[in-house]
Amino acid sequence: MDMIRSDVGSGVMDAVNDDVTAVEQFIPVRSPVARLGSAPAVNRWPGVHAFQVTVYQRLGTPAGRQPPYAYSRAAGKLYTDMLVAVPFRFSYTAVGDPRRLEIRAQPVYLDAQHVQNPVRRCPHHQDAALMSNVQSQHVRHVLQTQHARFRYDENGDRCSVVVPLEPLQPATDHYEVLYEFTCMNTCVGGMNRRRILALFTLEECETGQVLGRQTIEVKVCKCPHRDLKADEKRLGLGRIGDKPDRKRRLTSSPPASCEQRLVVEVDDEEMFRAVTEVRDSMRRYRRRVNPQHGQAPPPGRQ
Ligand SMILES: [Zn+2]
Repeated sequence: MDMIRSDVGSGVMDAVNDDVTAVEQFIPVRSPVARLGSAPAVNRWPGVHAFQVTVYQRLGTPAGRQPPYAYSRAAGKLYTDMLVAVPFRFSYTAVGDPRRLEIRAQPVYLDAQHVQNPVRRCPHHQDAALMSNVQSQHVRHVLQTQHARFRYDENGDRCSVVVPLEPLQPATDHYEVLYEFTCMNTCVGGMNRRRILALFTLEECETGQVLGRQTIEVKVCKCPHRDLKADEKRLGLGRIGDKPDRKRRLTSSPPASCEQRLVVEVDDEEMFRAVTEVRDSMRRYRRRVNPQHGQAPPPGRQ
């Protein structure tokens, strides 16, 4: 029995991509049994394609505002407001034609006692009368995508969305897909303050075989940057995923004066931007609480 309800060809899809026939041919409907069990595996597994995922942290909007989401590399956790297009970047090693592969995304509960329960959207946010649900055929889905080509699957209450993998564009090492979350972690009748993961599986189109698996914890909240800072403060910035020498440098006591400066080694430009943002934020905070902070030392000390 085929329990997949393919929404390819819906009104929304028509608005996004007129070439519906091509999409249907590109994304075949298959049995979901192997992928959508009652308790999906959530252990990270790069597999033979070295499948990885991260969130691209944009620096800010043209108006100078912070983006409505934040990603903590230290905690490996995304903080985002509702209905915000968050760029997830997938990397993989090319083995054959990538168009025979696709990425399935679904939300799952993080805690073991809830992982068998499907993540449901709350009744309020499923209301078809909401502006964000107008013309939507996927009001039950917590995790949605703005990808041009997609397929929504439903197996009972367990919902997922699938996008086809495409060959990497020249001079890029990642494949970017925009996803958005349509319910808050605090929603009554939905997640009810339970923690969730975004689970991504790399699958073979024809067989549905899972070839790789990655997860990112997600908190859907009104103040992503505030909650990120609170969590990082509670955990200790840099204590997760960094080398011990970096941890000590990042969490050590600040220098007594501007005469002493510490250098933090980073791995890439994305990490450099994230660290720079934290540094600038701390400088602004210190200037607020101590307007003298950061000013040039008095004559005789230079
Ligand atoms: Zn909700």
